[in-house]
Amino acid sequence: FLNPWGPCMAWRIFFFFSLQCAVAALGWWLWGGWGAAVAAWVVGWCVVAWILQRMMQVMRWLRADADPYAAPELRGPWREVVQRICRLQRVKQQQVQSQEQKLQDFLAALHASPNGVLLLDGEGRIEWFNQQSARHFGLDLQRDLWQHIGNLVRDPAFSAYDSAGDYSGEVLLNGREHTANHPVFLSVQLHPYGEGRRLMLSRDVTALQQAEAMRRDFVANVSHEIRTPLTVLAGFIETMQNLQLDESERKHYLGLMAQQSTRMQYLVNDLLTLSRLEGSPLPSMQEWTPVAVLVQRCQQEAQALSQHLIPAHAAPHTLEFPSAQVLQAAGEVAGNFTELYSAFSNLVTNAVRYTPAGGRICVQWLVHDDGSACLQVQDTGPGIAPEHLPRLSERFYRIDRSRSRDSGGTGLGLAIAKHVLQRHGGQLGIASVLGQGSTFSAHLPAQRLRASVSTLSPFAS
Ligand code: ADP
Repeated sequence: FLNPWGPCMAWRIFFFFSLQCAVAALGWWLWGGWGAAVAAWVVGWCVVAWILQRMMQVMRWLRADADPYAAPELRGPWREVVQRICRLQRVKQQQVQSQEQKLQDFLAALHASPNGVLLLDGEGRIEWFNQQSARHFGLDLQRDLWQHIGNLVRDPAFSAYDSAGDYSGEVLLNGREHTANHPVFLSVQLHPYGEGRRLMLSRDVTALQQAEAMRRDFVANVSHEIRTPLTVLAGFIETMQNLQLDESERKHYLGLMAQQSTRMQYLVNDLLTLSRLEGSPLPSMQEWTPVAVLVQRCQQEAQALSQHLIPAHAAPHTLEFPSAQVLQAAGEVAGNFTELYSAFSNLVTNAVRYTPAGGRICVQWLVHDDGSACLQVQDTGPGIAPEHLPRLSERFYRIDRSRSRDSGGTGLGLAIAKHVLQRHGGQLGIASVLGQGSTFSAHLPAQRLRASVSTLSPFAS
C-alpha cells in the first residue's frame, strides 16, 4: 500500500543522485578524485541522517499511541507513512467505539433484567453485578466489587450450596429484607463457565412461594372442611347399621346427617363459585340488573334466614331495608347478576347469622358524589376485633369456627364477595367496633351504574 517507486519517489531518488553527482563533481573540481569521493560520501550521509531524523519523529509518535490528532507534520515519504497509519488508527478507533457501544448496550440490557446477574471469578470474587443483583443482596458497586461472595451472602443455605459444588438445581434463600410479616424469597443458581468462573442468577420468587403456600393451605383447608362432615356422616351411618333404633331416634340421626350433607353441599357450591370467578372473563358492561331486584331478593332471604335461626320464644331481628322508592331511584347495575347477588347476599346473610336475637340489621343503598354507590349492611352483632379485620376476606378465615359452622357458614362468603366486587371494579369495605356491631359495604364504581331505563316496576319480576 506504500509504493516507494511511485512517480514522486522516483523523482526524489533522481534528485538525490543528481545532487550527489553535482557535489561529487564540485569535489573533484576542487580537490581531485579524493575530493569527489568525500563529497559524495558526505551528501549520502546527510540524506541518511535526514531520513533517520524523520524516522525518529515517527517512532516517537507511534510510541505515544499514534494519536491521529497529534501526528507529526512531515514532508516526503514519511508524510504518506504517517497519513496511512492515521487512517488505520481511525478505522481501529471506530471499531473499538462500536464494540464499546455494543458492550454498553449489552450491559444496559443486563441491568434492565428483572433477574439478578452476578459474575464470579475463579476465586469466588465478584467481578460484576447488575442492579437487580445489587438489590437482591444489598451490594454496593464501589464497596463490594472484588469481595468474596461468601462474605456478602452469608446465608448458611448458600454456603452449603456453594461448597457442595453441585449447581444443577437452585437454592432458596431469604431475601435481605425478609421478615416474618414481609417475607422475601430468592431463588439462586450458579452456572459454571470459562476457567473456573461462575455466573450467579437470582430471582425474586416471593409471589410464587406465597402462591404455593396459599395453594397448600387451601388444599389442607378444603380437605379439613370436607373431612369433618364426612367423619360425622360415617359415624351416624355406622351407628344406624349397628344399633336397633326406634323411629324417633332414626329421624333424629337422619336429620343430623342431612345437616352435614347440606354443609358439604354449601361448601362445594362456594368452592365452585370461587373457581368460576377465577376462571371466567370480567363481567360484561351490557347486562344490566335493577338494584331493586338484587336488594329485594336479599331482603326475602334475610327474612327467611332470620326466622329459621331465631327461636320462636326469642326476640326477633329488626330488619331494615330501603323503601321501594329509594330502590327504584337506585337504578341499574352492570355486571353478572348471579355474582352480584352472591356478593350482596353474603353480606346480608352474615349480618343475620352473626347478630343475636333482638338485634338490628340495617341495609342501605348509598349514592356518593362521584356517582359511585354502595350497598351498606350494618348490624348490632358482636363486632370484630381490629386484628381480624385485614384477614377477614381470606379464604376459610373465621373468628369463631364453631359459630360460623353452626349457622351454616363455609368461611368463603367474604372471599367470594371481595372477589366479585373487584371483578366489577368495586371493593369490599369492612368497619367494626368490638361489642357494638359491624358495617360491611359493597362499593360499585359509577361506570357500572345508571338510572333505571325500564318503565316497568322492578318488583314486577
Ligand atoms: P362464614 O361462612 O364463616 O361466615 P365469611 O367469609 O362470610 O365466612 O366470614 C368470615 C368471618 O368473618 C366469619 O367467620 C365471621 O367470624 C366474620 N364475620 C363475617 N360477617 C360478620 C358480621 N356481620 N359480624 C361479625 N362477624 C362477621
